[in-house]
Amino acid sequence: MKIMIVDDSKAIYMMVSGMLTERGHQAVWAEDGVDACEKLKTEKVDLILLDWNMPNMSGPEFLEKNQAENITEVPIVMMTTENKPDFIKKALQLGAVEYIMKPFTSDILFNKIELVFDLE
Ligand SMILES: [Mg+2]
Repeated sequence: MKIMIVDDSKAIYMMVSGMLTERGHQAVWAEDGVDACEKLKTEKVDLILLDWNMPNMSGPEFLEKNQAENITEVPIVMMTTENKPDFIKKALQLGAVEYIMKPFTSDILFNKIELVFDLE
């Protein structure tokens, strides 16, 4: 699979892309929601991992824009350090299919990815 990681932290991108490539997947980096919108015009991806807090366009703002403009139809998993029920509820209401708490291990990430594709 080709998976887009939308996160303003290059360290997070490096860590998560390492987990993905180790298991034979491809990673694409977008630094924020604006960059993701731009890259999704040309990149075809199977899944998006979306950070919450980012400059220019945050994760929730990206989800709102996607709801309004139908930028992508692939599943979006929110990556967040927030585990407050309100945050999780908001992400799901805005169209994320799942969420994953940072920091996470490779096993946690792949369990979540399997869950997402079982739901489809
Ligand atoms: Mg961030």
